[in-house]
Amino acid sequence: MDRRTTAGPGPGRRGRAARGTGGLRSALPSDIRRRNRQTVLKSLYPDRWLSRADLAKLTGLSKVSVSDVVADLIDDGLLVEGGYKSSSRPGKPAVLVGINVKGSAVMALDLSEAGLVRGIVTDLAGHVTATEEEPISPGTLQPTVLVKLSRRLLELSPVPVLGLGVATPGTVDRGGRVLAAPNLGWTDMDLAALLHGQLGVAVTVSNDADAAVFGERCFAGGTDNMILVAIARGVGAGVLIADHIVRGSDYVAGEIGHVVVDQDGPACVCGKRGCLETLIAAPVLEKRIAERPENRDDILTQAGEVLGVALSMPVALTNIKDLTISGPSDLVGTIMLEAVENTINDRVHSRFINRVDVHPARLGRQAAALGAVACVLRHELGVL
Ligand SMILES: [Zn+2]
Repeated sequence: MDRRTTAGPGPGRRGRAARGTGGLRSALPSDIRRRNRQTVLKSLYPDRWLSRADLAKLTGLSKVSVSDVVADLIDDGLLVEGGYKSSSRPGKPAVLVGINVKGSAVMALDLSEAGLVRGIVTDLAGHVTATEEEPISPGTLQPTVLVKLSRRLLELSPVPVLGLGVATPGTVDRGGRVLAAPNLGWTDMDLAALLHGQLGVAVTVSNDADAAVFGERCFAGGTDNMILVAIARGVGAGVLIADHIVRGSDYVAGEIGHVVVDQDGPACVCGKRGCLETLIAAPVLEKRIAERPENRDDILTQAGEVLGVALSMPVALTNIKDLTISGPSDLVGTIMLEAVENTINDRVHSRFINRVDVHPARLGRQAAALGAVACVLRHELGVL
């Protein structure tokens, strides 16, 4: 998820944002500074300790630039000195610098669950240090609920907060505006600007499946080419290619729930028949299992086969081998996952195309919130 959304002051605490990006022009000193900061932070993130001389060697920046940038980042509380480099040479050993992981915090809100908004606070390495929930009733979600919950999270953080990430269902544009989120009753809601105005922190807003795939990538050992399919009230997907979230021309990439997979299938709320959601959404599967509990394994196998058939072509098209399925654990278990994996590999595997690995979301219910944290870290610090 690249420069997806922002309403924040830009990189660093002093708001050294690059000004304007249109047209041809030479790099401004502020652009170079920003790039150098990102290069140094990236070299150290999350837990590498290097001397200034080693940082210069590693990054290709001059020793003077590195000293300058490191001093700035220490000032900003993002880097910290610690320990000395062991050396057999005589003289003063070099001081090591590293990321001040606990010196700043990131907040995130996950709006994807029915009935509650989940809030978390993490350190800069994505370790959760506090959680808060706010119950919500069905219907339109009032942004004041999010402001209130965010303020509670801010109070829980004893260190400065780098930014707030929000994972929301629906379509989100590059600027953090929610174009449509029917489940929340939102159309054209400029969420990033609204929250930034109320809270005064940098805000990034992402689609929940996009956030979840990025969370799995950054904090759960995911690869740089991944698909995450979320089976919930609906069915959606996040797609990561070469470490970039694929958003598509209208920001609706991954909205696979209303693609027809069975022309003779059940009627769908969208007016078509046999959309993927009508066959494998969580409430559909739960209802079918409740009606015929003895057929549970068959129902889940069939659902896995339907999803496997649907995903075979995009898997071949993109050569993605890492496929994550998230959803309620009583549905998304071994039976369904094996059916998805076998179905895809039966169709796609060949001399030219390796087998696809299908597994559950490693971060479980935290995937979207942690992904929103990762978006803030990428946007504000250029790491991840
Ligand atoms: Zn539909």
